[in-house]
Amino acid sequence: MRGSIGLDVFDSLVKRNYDWVLELDINTEKVEFLHVNKLMNDNGINSEGVKDYAELKRLLLERFLVEDEREMFAMQIKIPLMVEEIKAKGNFIRTVHIDGGEGVRSEYFRVTAIDDNRYLICLINITMFLDHDWMTDEYSRSGFIAEAEKMMKDPKYAQGYSVVYTNIKGFKAINDFLGTFSGDMIIFMLRDILHKELEPTLIARLESDHFVLITRTELLTSERFERICPQTYVEGSKRLPFSIRFGVYNIKNPNRTIQHMLDRAKLAEKSISDNHSESYAICDDKLSAEYSMRRKLISEVDSALAKGEFKTYYQPVVDAKTGEIVSAEALIRWVHPERGVVSPAQFIPAFEEEGHITKIDSFMVGNVIDFNLARTKAGKKIVPCAVNLSRVDFYDTRLLDETMLRFDERNDMGDLIKFEITESAYAVLEADAYLFLVEMKSMGISLLLDDFGSGMSSLSTLESFAFDVIKLDKGFIDQIGKSEKAEAIIKHTIGLSHDIGAKVVAEGVETEEQLAFLKEADCDMIQGYYFYKPMTQEEFAALI
Ligand code: C2E
Ligand code: MG
Ligand code: MG
Repeated sequence: MRGSIGLDVFDSLVKRNYDWVLELDINTEKVEFLHVNKLMNDNGINSEGVKDYAELKRLLLERFLVEDEREMFAMQIKIPLMVEEIKAKGNFIRTVHIDGGEGVRSEYFRVTAIDDNRYLICLINITMFLDHDWMTDEYSRSGFIAEAEKMMKDPKYAQGYSVVYTNIKGFKAINDFLGTFSGDMIIFMLRDILHKELEPTLIARLESDHFVLITRTELLTSERFERICPQTYVEGSKRLPFSIRFGVYNIKNPNRTIQHMLDRAKLAEKSISDNHSESYAICDDKLSAEYSMRRKLISEVDSALAKGEFKTYYQPVVDAKTGEIVSAEALIRWVHPERGVVSPAQFIPAFEEEGHITKIDSFMVGNVIDFNLARTKAGKKIVPCAVNLSRVDFYDTRLLDETMLRFDERNDMGDLIKFEITESAYAVLEADAYLFLVEMKSMGISLLLDDFGSGMSSLSTLESFAFDVIKLDKGFIDQIGKSEKAEAIIKHTIGLSHDIGAKVVAEGVETEEQLAFLKEADCDMIQGYYFYKPMTQEEFAALI
């Protein structure tokens, strides 16, 4: 039987990571071992102790599998279910965790078909692969967490130790610029610097250029960070300066989870503003409190939606020449029972990260359409209101589906709703997402390019898609009367937009002077506190 897969090939494959390799006959349910390691052998999993699949299952589950996984795994490894999955997918693989008295290990339970009746079942220890980083030979995330957990049981870490999260500022751009080989060399360089300068007790590469380490707090002085932050990569005639950034979390309570410590160190690193030259930040109580609040807000989204705590506010947009309200921007507000009115800046970024934004935006779309339809029914005046889209909305079809559904009730949506997408979100859309924009346009819906001029504006943005309206960012409007350059750019952007058939709205207009300049520059529409602040739906209804 052993010869059936070729003993030599088989032996070369079976390294010490295979706990067992066996053949299963699915008709007789008999098993035959081709290889068993010492741990399994000592526990009675061998040709003498086990003759059939039922016995193998019983021993594996009872002697090895961690308790949490037993019930589920017992269900999954029933022969007919495995056979069905192998027929569909070519193999059956589950990751399980076993504890044979030497600590928990991750294992692959892998089954493939030899022929119609015989199956090969391997149990492979993959802890090593999961816990180590293939490139730098440091720990990976899971290895770091497992090792750090063990370390924290030692009382010596209760004082004087910190978790440091670190990466290279703008690494992606460096990688694109120099190529992957040099990018990899920079990662090795960073690893060596960290070893030399921060003397880590434990270090891991999480992904790309992101490392985490635990070291003595006394080493983490500002002098040291300032010295090691600026670096230069040299390769032949290439010289590329780059900077390293550090986020620090002082371990005060070793009973906290490692994930908690890692999150805080990362949070500190993220708090370093892009425009500043600081190379490091420490997670203090304020940062920690902000983070906890964000987590709390996120945990409350669904119940807040159900309880009606989210409200749609409207900020009117007026015709620059006549001052008449021609549109509005729908802006979300969270009327929180304890915190009062929470502004979107405090929760939108977190919602985007955690996948809640599409629910919110769908809610806004529904509200805007309902509001305008109800007014239409009552014979009252309506203006199309713009809902802000997040980048994420383009990958979750919910919003498009819902709008489509409403479209079936009515052939033209353009008088009810518009959409705004920021320039930075538009810049990172994948090809598929354009279909969404095209679909919207075919429904008569206007699309606005929001915050134009705030980031890496590019004329190709204007060329690549026919936006109906370009919205000039408040940052530019603020410069009116202060910077001649900004004024020239505004004037020419308006002219350029008109030439390509788009209208222009200026956002954040607060003064008479700004308004006068924009009118003179032939700006079409104005949005800003000078005319109206965002207001409740009731106030807006009364106004128009
Ligand atoms: P945005 O789309 O650029 O919206 C304009 C922001 O500028 C609004 O802030 C508005 O209240 C504010 N603003 C308007 N005129 C003036 C002015 O004259 N002076 C000043 N100082 N501010 C003015 P808000 O409501 O806090 O919203 C902030 C951002 O949050 C929005 O920027 C938008 O990107 C996002 N956002 C708001 N509601 C939603 C939503 O329902 N969904 C999504 N995805 N994002 C939203
Ligand atoms: Mg907007
Ligand atoms: Mg804007």
